[in-house]
Amino acid sequence: MKITAYEVREDEQKYFKDIAEKYNIDIIYVKETLNVETIELAKGCEGVTILGRSKISSIILDKLKVFNINYISTRTIGYNHIDLDYARKIGIKVSNSNYGPNGVADFTLMLILMSIRNYKQAMFRGNVNDYSLDGLQGKEMKDLTVGVLGSGKIGSTVIELLQGFGCRILVYDAYPKDKIREKAKYVDLDTLYKESDVITLHTPLLKDTHHMINKESIGKMKNGVILINCARGELMDIEDVIVGIETHKIGGLGLDVIENEEEIYHQDRRLDILTNRQMAYIRQFPNVTMTQHMAFYTDIAVSSMVNSGVESLISFVNTATSEYEIKR
Ligand code: NAD
Repeated sequence: MKITAYEVREDEQKYFKDIAEKYNIDIIYVKETLNVETIELAKGCEGVTILGRSKISSIILDKLKVFNINYISTRTIGYNHIDLDYARKIGIKVSNSNYGPNGVADFTLMLILMSIRNYKQAMFRGNVNDYSLDGLQGKEMKDLTVGVLGSGKIGSTVIELLQGFGCRILVYDAYPKDKIREKAKYVDLDTLYKESDVITLHTPLLKDTHHMINKESIGKMKNGVILINCARGELMDIEDVIVGIETHKIGGLGLDVIENEEEIYHQDRRLDILTNRQMAYIRQFPNVTMTQHMAFYTDIAVSSMVNSGVESLISFVNTATSEYEIKR
C-alpha cells in the first residue's frame, strides 16, 4: 500500500516512520499543502493524509478521483477545510483525527488565567525591567461565571478542569449531554451571554456557528467580558470583536485561532510583508493574548494525529470503512 502525506512537519516524521514500518506501507512525504501544484505527487497512491492548511475544494477532489484516490484523512479534528458534501457526492471518503481533548483544554485554561490576571502586560514589562503593578490587578476564578459554548470532547474537559477552581459554570450546546448536567448548568445562549464573565468557544465551525460572536451577541454580554477562542477563528466576526475591544465592552481576549490565519500560522514569516491587517491590529492591544494555533500541539496529540491519519487510510483501503470516518 502506498499513501502520500502532505504538510508533514519535522516533528511528525518519527511517528510516520514508525507506523510505516509497523504496517509495511510506502509513504511519500510532502512538506507543502495538497494543492493543484502538488497533487501530482499523489499519483499511484491509494489515499492521502493532510493537515488543516490544505484547502480541499471540488477541483482538488475531482483531480483525486481522476487518480482513482478515494480516501482522505485529515490529521486534524476540525474538517472545515474540506468540501465534505462534494467529497460524498463523488464517492470520496474522509476521516478526521480524534486525539485526546486535554491539550486544548489545558491551553484554554491557560488563556483564561492569563487574561484574567493581565499576564501579557506583566510579561512585556518584565522584559524591560518594569516591575510596576499599575493596571495589573486581576480577578479570582472562584468569583467568576464561566460560560462554555459547546460541551463536546474539548468543552466537557474544560468544564472538568474548571470545577477545580470553584467558579460558576454555565454551558450551552445545541445537543445537551446528560453527563455534563451534574458538572455545569445548561442555559440558553442569551443567558450564557448575559451572565458570563468569561466565555470560551468550543463549537465546530458550521454554517450556523460562523461569526456567531458578532456585534449582536457581543451586545448581549457583560461589560468587560473576557472571550477565549481555541476552536476556529471564523466563529468570531473579528471586525466586531475589534470594536468591542476599542469600546471597552470586551475586557480581554485570548485567541489561539483567528480568521485567515492559514497562510501565516505554523510558518516563519519574519521577513515577509503580511497583509492580514486585522491580525496585526488586534494583536497590539494590551489585553489581547494571541498564539499561533498551537493549543493541540503536545507530544501525545501529534503521535495520535499521525497514527490515526495513517491507520484510517489503511482501514479504508482494506475494508472501505474507518472508525474515524466523518459521517455527519
Ligand atoms: P466535538 O465534536 O466533540 O464537540 C463539539 C460540540 O459542539 C458538540 O457537543 C456539538 O453538539 C456542539 N455543537 C454543534 N453545533 C453547535 C451549535 N450550533 N451551537 C452550540 N454547540 C454546537 O468537538 P471537539 O473535539 O470538542 O472540538 C471542538 C472544536 O475545537 C473543533 O471543531 C475544532 O474546530 C477545535 N479545535 C481546535 C484545536 C486547536 O489547536 N486550537 C484543536 C482541536 C480542535
